[in-house]
Amino acid sequence: MKCEQYQKLIMGYIDGELTESEIRELMDHLKVCEECRREMRQFKILNAVTDISSFQTPEDKFWEGYWSGIYNKMERRLGWILVTGGLILLMSGALFWLCSQVLLNPSEPIWVRVGIPLTMIGTAVLLISVCRERVRAYRFERYKDVRR
Ligand SMILES: [Zn+2]
Repeated sequence: MKCEQYQKLIMGYIDGELTESEIRELMDHLKVCEECRREMRQFKILNAVTDISSFQTPEDKFWEGYWSGIYNKMERRLGWILVTGGLILLMSGALFWLCSQVLLNPSEPIWVRVGIPLTMIGTAVLLISVCRERVRAYRFERYKDVRR
């Protein structure tokens, strides 16, 4: 028999459709043929992968819930990332503008050049503090949900 024919036997072997004599014949060939051994390995891996995906089909409901849960979490996280990113961008933009327009301009009075950065830093600290409080409250809410 040629290797091509053995490869058909390999597929039959994976599907469990071979007779005992066919199996013996295939095994004898696999002992001497590296090419067909590799083919056998690849079919086994492929078979394992399709096994896993067919195993999941009866649990479609579970996976739907799983993915929508993940989606909700991602949505909320994305919202936080966008808001935080936007705030950081706005604040650094404002800071840059202040630096170039006011702080480095020697004709501005000293109380403006010191007062504005102090106010900016204070606002940033307050903002971060409020955000941290929100996150802690959100975690606590979730914890209460779990306990209920
Ligand atoms: Zn072969």
